[in-house]
Amino acid sequence: MRFADESRIVAEDTPEARRYNRVRRWLEIGDIILSLGFLLALLSFGWSAVIRDWAYRAAFQNYGFAVLFYVLMLMGLAKILSFGLDYLGYRLEQRNQLSNQRMRSWLWDELKGFLVGFVVAAIVAELLYFTMRHFPEYWWLVAWALFIILFVLMAQLAPLVLFPIFYKFEPLDNEPLKQRLVQLGEKAGTRVRGIYKWHLSEKSKKANAALTGLGATRRIILADTLLDNYSQDEIEAVLAHELGHHVHRHILKSILVQAGITLFGFWVANFVLHLAIERWHMFDTLSDFANLPLLVLLSTVLSVVLMPVLNAYSRFNERQADRYAFQSIRSIEPFISSMNKLAAQNLAERKPSKWVEWLFHSHPAIWRRIAAAEAWSKPRMAS
Ligand SMILES: [Zn+2]
Repeated sequence: MRFADESRIVAEDTPEARRYNRVRRWLEIGDIILSLGFLLALLSFGWSAVIRDWAYRAAFQNYGFAVLFYVLMLMGLAKILSFGLDYLGYRLEQRNQLSNQRMRSWLWDELKGFLVGFVVAAIVAELLYFTMRHFPEYWWLVAWALFIILFVLMAQLAPLVLFPIFYKFEPLDNEPLKQRLVQLGEKAGTRVRGIYKWHLSEKSKKANAALTGLGATRRIILADTLLDNYSQDEIEAVLAHELGHHVHRHILKSILVQAGITLFGFWVANFVLHLAIERWHMFDTLSDFANLPLLVLLSTVLSVVLMPVLNAYSRFNERQADRYAFQSIRSIEPFISSMNKLAAQNLAERKPSKWVEWLFHSHPAIWRRIAAAEAWSKPRMAS
């Protein structure tokens, strides 16, 4: 028999946590609605064609450069429109004491984010319209194949190129912790190449950890906000969870799922583009890049529709990683206390309403993760 221990009773969510998460959700929903409105306006008022003509003029009629200018103008307009919501998001973190990032540093991050987004979007758009021009029949299949290569490259390069643009990372210099990870990995017959300290505290007070990279760049990153405030046992529980993602090949599986969805998306895009050209007479040709807002609109709608499904898939993976952690660590207590600490530190809702969890959460609610840990340990405790 076990005693009912205080720490195991899931605390009720505070009004602050509820309010913070509600406002955050509404900001996200507002952002989606704004994007959809912007894209619809571009298409229905003929603004997209106007911007295309400007882009051609700026590029001296060179197609490749015109695509580049068009993407830049579109993204610039979108950023101006969404900047207000971004700022509210920044203020929300400040108001809830979740961030101490200065305004200047935040603005700098916004600029860097915009530039990184522009580089990625420019590569994507150039590839897209290159394939449309050269393979008008099968552009969507060729573009899909190129996108898969891009996904894999991005997953591989993100820890080396993308993340360091925003945060500092350094190899963890904590020998006992590294030893524990090696032992965990040996038990699983696997090895993660590195653990890195993620300097998150300069920008946020929240704690986080993640598995990132592919192949040679595969690594676990642990926020300094976690390393500084959690016991060795708690950090080991977090490490074991991340190792669970590695053992179950979750990054690779997610890329495969993305690949399937992207194939479907491209097929739909090809179908709708042909309708737009032949039936609705919105564009003259496939490679008229004024149709880009239509493609973005389709992918936005697809991702909103699939959000609950993808979140359910993510929660499934998270449960798998949790179970891996339960069987790898000596006791589930540090897992439970790390969950409680994370919830408090990140102002997370431990028990969101069912539909909020179903629609928006990529992780199972904290109370479910704690309940699963308890249920897992019970049969073992009985003996
Ligand atoms: Zn996880």
